[in-house]
Amino acid sequence: MRYLSTRGHADRKRFCEILLEGLAPDGGLYLPERYPQVDAIALQRLRESFNGGRPGGYAALAFEILSLYIDDIPAADLRALCEKTYTEAVFGTPQIVPLKKLEDGFYLEALSNGPTLAFKDMAMQLLGNLFEYELARRGEELNILGATSGDTGSAAEYAMRGKHGVRVFMLSPHGRMSPFQQAQMFSLMDENIHNIAIEGVFDDCQDIVKDVSNDLAFKRAHKIGTVNSINWARLLAQVVYYFAGYFQATTKDTEQVSFTVPSGNFGNVCAGHVARQMGLPIRTLVVATNENDVLDEFFRTGVYRVRGSADTHETSSPSMDISKASNFERFVFDLLGRDGDRVKAFFGEGLSREGRFDLSTDPVFAEAASHYGFRSGKSTHANRLDTIRDVYQRHRLMIDTHTADGVKVAREHREAGTPMVVLETALPIKFAETIVEALGRQPDRPAQFQGIEDLPKRVKVMPARTADVQAFIAEHCARA
Ligand SMILES: *Cc1c(COP(=O)(O)O)cnc(C)c1O
Repeated sequence: MRYLSTRGHADRKRFCEILLEGLAPDGGLYLPERYPQVDAIALQRLRESFNGGRPGGYAALAFEILSLYIDDIPAADLRALCEKTYTEAVFGTPQIVPLKKLEDGFYLEALSNGPTLAFKDMAMQLLGNLFEYELARRGEELNILGATSGDTGSAAEYAMRGKHGVRVFMLSPHGRMSPFQQAQMFSLMDENIHNIAIEGVFDDCQDIVKDVSNDLAFKRAHKIGTVNSINWARLLAQVVYYFAGYFQATTKDTEQVSFTVPSGNFGNVCAGHVARQMGLPIRTLVVATNENDVLDEFFRTGVYRVRGSADTHETSSPSMDISKASNFERFVFDLLGRDGDRVKAFFGEGLSREGRFDLSTDPVFAEAASHYGFRSGKSTHANRLDTIRDVYQRHRLMIDTHTADGVKVAREHREAGTPMVVLETALPIKFAETIVEALGRQPDRPAQFQGIEDLPKRVKVMPARTADVQAFIAEHCARA
């Protein structure tokens, strides 16, 4: 299997070559040259591997699917990496992603029982093990630099903690994350994890990461890398739980299932697109957005219009507060018949200059729905509160704000005879303020998180200056 860039670069690379990279050299995103096809016999075999979610089933399924895309890690090693990642000890249940039934034909797929209680653990935990494996094989080290306002940073830290050859330097806006999120990140005492609280806002943190990445001499000397959502290995890891959700919602491989996905950067639902392209019988993929409706607007109108920071709303489902969807280019590449030149024209300078592109009059736009099965919808703060309340009253189940956006939109797209699976992307404890607003009571707190706000914290507060951050990184690289 070789990987290509969505912007037409001639290079073809193997999995481990792109594992530690972000963008392709031409600014595009990596995708496989073709999607491996899963026919009826293969699907039957995958269902048997998953084995109804019995212990080891998810890891076996992950191994089978990853093997279709990775041919430069020996099979025994890849299997061991999957078995080490997807355990009941880390994800809380033997099924790893159990389905919870709300009513007949309407389910939640629980993706948020990993260490940080959000679905990003599903991919990030695997990435931690893949990074450690590949760095050891090369005899190299990597310093991961990132900016976070919550979920991504903590998922990265919990995936990389204690891993050999990897250090994490994670910037967050000082005093702006919730007490729970701060406690989750800052209570990590691992030598290789460095929390840096920047006196500024999230954009300041991101600007510093960009400055450091643009300082090529520093970047090379200090082996700086990232783990952002465009990483192909992260997306690939997410393909697995669409299969696991499908097998749990059906008894026969001839049935179809629809998924609704609370979306921000389009990483999660893009994994669903890949699963569908492989031949998994997915009927529709419903993209649910919050008030930041860049994606809903595209699927309704064919116009992709990125927002400025002034038009990006701070909402009660903050992990979906995006101004542009970084993984969307992957889907558009397929939609445009894999025409790298057109993708480059749309997403390169065109988008920076115009801030939009328009496919509304292009015949391919209709295929987003007719051929690729995409639908979309939007949810607001009021919808979120209503949905959290309704699900709690009717099903005695507390859902988080992002999942509530999914449930709200999913209800608008249900079809008789086709099960609808909503991906649960976080647990309510992470967004307690809105739960209290909706239900008048605190969300339940899993036992291992009792009292984490009182644990000692390890964090360095710094002014929003790139040079200070660089000095801190250099000092900690020299020390080890
Ligand atoms: C990251 C995140 C999302 C959005 O996922 P994308 O892959 O960026 O579309 C939704 N919900 C939660 C809780 C998240 O952390």
